[in-house]
Amino acid sequence: MKKGLIIRSTGSWYELIDQETNNKYSCRTAGKMKLLKKDLSNPIGVGDFVEFEPESENQGIIHKIEPRKNYIVRQSPKNKHQLHLIAANIDLAVLVTTLIQPTFKPGFIDRFLITTEPQNIPVLIVFNKSDLWEESEFQLFEDCKSIYRHITAGLLEVSTVTLKNIELLKENLLGKTCLVAGQSGVGKSSLLNVLQPGIGLRTSDISSSSGKGTHTTTFAEMFILEDGSRVIDTPGIKSLSFNNLEIMDVAHNFKEFFETSVGCRFGSKCTHRNEPECAVKMAIESGHISFQRYQNYINLIDEIESQNYWERNKKF
Ligand code: GDP
Repeated sequence: MKKGLIIRSTGSWYELIDQETNNKYSCRTAGKMKLLKKDLSNPIGVGDFVEFEPESENQGIIHKIEPRKNYIVRQSPKNKHQLHLIAANIDLAVLVTTLIQPTFKPGFIDRFLITTEPQNIPVLIVFNKSDLWEESEFQLFEDCKSIYRHITAGLLEVSTVTLKNIELLKENLLGKTCLVAGQSGVGKSSLLNVLQPGIGLRTSDISSSSGKGTHTTTFAEMFILEDGSRVIDTPGIKSLSFNNLEIMDVAHNFKEFFETSVGCRFGSKCTHRNEPECAVKMAIESGHISFQRYQNYINLIDEIESQNYWERNKKF
């Protein structure tokens, strides 16, 4: 049996790299694979290590999936009560975003962080298109730094036009398996092309009418860069939605809120809204927790509460 690393998954076919020879194989699974986790709708994701048996020069059969150190899911496109495995064994998640073109959306970073926090995946936030920044964007970037510096692996402003900080970004990725995510239009494909000229990803122009980019990537895919770093490109962030979340999932995955909740009267059961003696609210008053982050938190749990309300009432 040989060991392989999954670099692409398109439904029932999986593309992998033989760990010894670096040859590529297209593989199917041996019968129905046992799912490592019952709530996942697909058994194998990009970044998974597997055992496989070659059947020909470039095809084979996967027999076993190695245990994962972590994984990222999204809501299954087929069944919204199931989760679809996007990628596994991630060392660093790179969230690509912009302050302008497209406009920065407060709350977007926080949404992403609650998907990585339960899996203990460090997040580097990359602000692209810094060549377009004026004074207000530089100020906004400083504000973001003061909010997110302590709860992430860092923030970096880059540009695929001037190549600002691209070398620094490469250093941050070196030797790691990195998941790259971001809303369409932020320049994710341009950035991957700059990281490795010739990766050959298509970039999409921002539609002049909507100001939004159009989707060009539909499946997660891993690219091995020249320096050995592994980069996983993911489908549009739209699909990283989370209908199955409960309020406590959010409360427990706002890192600094959860850490602070030991001081709340209701401890880890506190939702930090109207409860008495809430240490999180006190920390906001004293400036130890960002008010902006608290607002994003409240918006998120309001949204989940109304979503769950409609879901529950539909059933009766
Ligand atoms: P994706 O949808 O996130 O993959 O974004 P693309 O890479 O397709 O880029 C969307 C648009 O932004 C394209 O028109 C790019 O030329 C443009 N773009 C990408 N990076 C930069 C940058 O650093 N500065 C500027 N000004 N434009 C950029």
